[in-house]
Amino acid sequence: MGCCPRCGKGHLFDGFLALKPRCDRCSLDFSFADSADGPAFFVMFIAGFIVAGSALAVEIAYAPPYWVHAVLWGPLILVTTLLPLRPIKGLFIGLQYQHKAEEGRFTGGNAP
Ligand SMILES: [Zn+2]
Repeated sequence: MGCCPRCGKGHLFDGFLALKPRCDRCSLDFSFADSADGPAFFVMFIAGFIVAGSALAVEIAYAPPYWVHAVLWGPLILVTTLLPLRPIKGLFIGLQYQHKAEEGRFTGGNAP
């Protein structure tokens, strides 16, 4: 929903995908949140499956001229990639916060 993972009230995003430096309600520091290209990978994977599958199905069933493919799949690619990108990035950051995910650190060899 684009809300802060701690208070659920403040806004997470400052723009389409850019994050605010901290929550404007509970001032949780968002510097822990680095979803990198995780959201893009999942969106690409899902959208590619939907669009490529649909294009193959339409080609096999109707064999339309190529301009029909261009008209159909161009907009579908935009819809299936741009719409879920922000919710999935928000979900990743929420999960990172929930599970305290962070980069591995060297503990000096005393760890079990
Ligand atoms: Zn907050």
